[in-house]
Amino acid sequence: MTQTVLVTGGAGFIGSNLVRLLRRERPDWTVVNLDKLTYAGNAESLAELREDEKHAFVRGDILDAELVNRLISDRKVDVILNLAAESHVDRSILGPAIFVETNVSGTQVLLEAARQAKVRRFVQVSTDEVYGSLGATGRFSESSPLRPSSPYSASKAAADLLALAYGHTFGMDVVVTRCSNNYGPYQFPEKLIPLMIANALEGRRLPVYGDGLQVRDWIHVDDHCRALLAAAEILGKPRELIEHVKDRPGHDRRYAVDAARARAELGWTPRISFGEGLTSTVDWYVQNRGWWERVRTGEYLTYYERNYGAR
Ligand code: NAD
Repeated sequence: MTQTVLVTGGAGFIGSNLVRLLRRERPDWTVVNLDKLTYAGNAESLAELREDEKHAFVRGDILDAELVNRLISDRKVDVILNLAAESHVDRSILGPAIFVETNVSGTQVLLEAARQAKVRRFVQVSTDEVYGSLGATGRFSESSPLRPSSPYSASKAAADLLALAYGHTFGMDVVVTRCSNNYGPYQFPEKLIPLMIANALEGRRLPVYGDGLQVRDWIHVDDHCRALLAAAEILGKPRELIEHVKDRPGHDRRYAVDAARARAELGWTPRISFGEGLTSTVDWYVQNRGWWERVRTGEYLTYYERNYGAR
């Protein structure tokens, strides 16, 4: 189903990669891109989309409630992906106030606008930094306690909780994602990897914090963006569409097959988990709409005649 997606911060590093991915992978969707173009936003990162009719760039502030409300209602936005943020830890240590304004108050403005307009899904793009620091072992999970260390991560944790509270209190469909450190094209060269690359290319010194043994869980920005697309993918089907109808007569209640013999004798094991398989199946039907529409209208029945009938 065609969607209109509002991406905030779409001129930033992850946002610009996400907008390009959305245009590539969901060509019939419209992307409204709201970005203030702070020092971190760069319209040049979107140069290839300048002529694209399904990408509307709006220079503006997520704190501007009037603008946000207008955009959501005029453009009939279905889904919001909130990436607009002050994102650099070092800057949050030098000046935390703007982090609270943009990351916390800005998110609240967007949530409120989404609530008023009954936007179908709100994806709050957060960070694993809300969990603080790990010891030598272990991994963060969704149930890890929030222990942000910097003003940046504290502001992101606050925004997450606000988003979840909007979900809980107002029944909004809110998804919070907490990704680890991204790298890839279009990252502002204040962040570690592009800073090192740019400095090395210019023959400048490569600054390493402390002993340099900090461990990060690097992820390529494309992988993050694909996860965000999956999180935004609601197929435009609100829960209200579910309708319980009269059960069919003699309907079996439960099936479960023990595949132990196939495993033992054939060495067979399933490779695709149900979660993965279902996601890729949904994806296929979204991408191949023509195929199943022709099945549903019966048009496919004439395919054979059209292609082979004349022979
Ligand atoms: P970025 O700093 O490159 O981009 C942020 C964008 O937000 C910029 O284009 C900026 O102009 C825009 N912006 C800032 N304030 C705004 C405002 N008030 N109104 C509208 N636009 C505004 O950041 P990024 O690295 O692309 O990160 C994007 C999001 O992903 C952030 O929310 C960040 O917390 C989160 N995140 C980043 C990483 C990472 O490794 N970079 C990892 C996990 C999560």
